[in-house]
Formats: sequence, structure tokens, C-alpha cells
Amino acid sequence: MPEEFVFNGRRLVCPQCRNNQFERAEGLIEHASFFGFKRSRLAENYTCGECGYVHWFLLK
Ligand SMILES: [Zn+2]
Repeated sequence: MPEEFVFNGRRLVCPQCRNNQFERAEGLIEHASFFGFKRSRLAENYTCGECGYVHWFLLK
């Protein structure tokens, strides 16, 4: 079920369709670096329940 999320006191709103209901998931983002190594960082993503736009946030 899509739900609302708040970051730093501000509600997450889709910039594309203004929807505020999202599905949360986690995944890896790969960063290319020098010498051809790749580094993966854990991130969480929120998929807009209306248009499917995906918002990514890196986990610290
Ligand atoms: Zn949307």
C-alpha cells in the first residue's frame, strides 16, 4: 500500500504529478570511480503511486 513520507519536516511530493503516496524499497546505487572500480552504496527509493516516478535517497 502506498503511504506518505516526511523528510526533515517536509512531506515528499512527486514533482511530476504532485501525488504524495509512495511505495518504499531499498536498492544499490553504483558509482563509477577512477581506475574502473565500481562502488555500490545502499539507498532507499520511493516510487510514486500515481505516475511511477522514482525518488532515490542515499543512506548514510
Ligand atoms: Zn508522480
